[in-house]
Amino acid sequence: MSDETPARPAPRVGLVSLGCPKALVDSERILSRLRAEGYEFSRKYQGADVVIVNTCGFLDSAKAESLAAIGEAMAENGRVIVTGCMGAEPDAILARFPNVLAVTGPQQYEQVVAAVHQAAAPAHDPFLDLVPPQGIRLTPRHYAYLKISEGCSNRCSFCIIPHLRGDLVSRPAAEVLREAEQLVKAGVKELLVISQDTSAYGLDLKYAPSPFHDREVRAKFLDLARELGSLGAWVRLHYVYPYPHVDEVIALMAEGKVLPYLDIPFQHAAPNVLKAMKRPAAQEKTLERIKRWREICPNLAIRSSFIVGFPGESEDDFAFLLDWLKAAELDRVGCFKFEPVAGAAANALPDQVPDEVKAQRHRRLMETQQAISAKLLKRKVGSRQKVIIDAVTATGATGRSAADAPEIDGTVHVAARRPLKVGEIVTVKIERADAYDLHGSVVGY
Ligand code: SF4
Repeated sequence: MSDETPARPAPRVGLVSLGCPKALVDSERILSRLRAEGYEFSRKYQGADVVIVNTCGFLDSAKAESLAAIGEAMAENGRVIVTGCMGAEPDAILARFPNVLAVTGPQQYEQVVAAVHQAAAPAHDPFLDLVPPQGIRLTPRHYAYLKISEGCSNRCSFCIIPHLRGDLVSRPAAEVLREAEQLVKAGVKELLVISQDTSAYGLDLKYAPSPFHDREVRAKFLDLARELGSLGAWVRLHYVYPYPHVDEVIALMAEGKVLPYLDIPFQHAAPNVLKAMKRPAAQEKTLERIKRWREICPNLAIRSSFIVGFPGESEDDFAFLLDWLKAAELDRVGCFKFEPVAGAAANALPDQVPDEVKAQRHRRLMETQQAISAKLLKRKVGSRQKVIIDAVTATGATGRSAADAPEIDGTVHVAARRPLKVGEIVTVKIERADAYDLHGSVVGY
């Protein structure tokens, strides 16, 4: 019998990650830290010593989902730490679940990790436990989200993110670039740049430069996009507002440095609704701007989201929005019915729109956009598109073109003569289109 004390098994942590890609990035950071300290992860509640629930508190429906997830984790495991956006309202959580071990707010990584230490002390020497230098990612290996800033300095009247997450805090350019470089070295083929307001990147830092390799890189949207574009991966920009300086980034798209894709949450088009929403860049002439962007980069794909039934939205305002959509010909559109979020200024606005009118406008908008989307996709039949492979199927593969972000946009169904690999980028000849997806065959590897 050996008289060596057997090593204590590593504690296991479970994680439930709800909400947007930004919350997913927070979850990845927490897991990376814990992995570095020797924790193991459990996919089942029963196998976990403690469960972290990363919540979303943006809409009331998201809060309800978060509370349900906490309830499930409490029932199945009973040792639960709550973090994320809803963690900014500890009273609401503790009133329902007084026995949760800890409640921490968004981006409070240190507090989450400290709470995990208390619940289940680390078993390993952190110096012996190697975390891959690119950290732990919850997205498939071939794409990764890259968060360039936290918080938001806008004050949209329907949103409580600035209240939950504070004003804009940008990461220095060199820090973002080092992370991006590690990701690419680890096999990532597509970087998805996210923040609450990507076009405002660096404003808080007064565009201060930071040293990256042999050069100084300014914390500026254009400079960062150019540097990211030189790393050899696809670069996709999310949450950009239509400010004039975005024109310069469109030129990078035309040069092929970053993907010709812009995710711009316009939310509405009627000037008085935009004003009531207090949207950033509400004064910009967006149709002219889009036209100009397409002159610079003809294959630019634009995705956006809209809110219908915002307080005060008249039938005329809504008709304005539909006309605007027909003129703008956006490639991808998401639509939400206005939902009051506890604490948002918009809740106190007069002329709330009845639910049945919201539902009817939602349907009309989606029908209008479906026709636009089908027309735009049909134009692609016969063209050749670069496609990144997401999943291999029995008959070929599914992937995405430059116009499709993962999870929110369409899919390209690909037939191929030889087996394809996830993450591979191939050239596909488009043979058929339906309302949202494309179908084609590989013509180049
Ligand atoms: S830009 Fe507006 S909607 Fe987006 S996070 Fe900031 S305040 Fe909220």
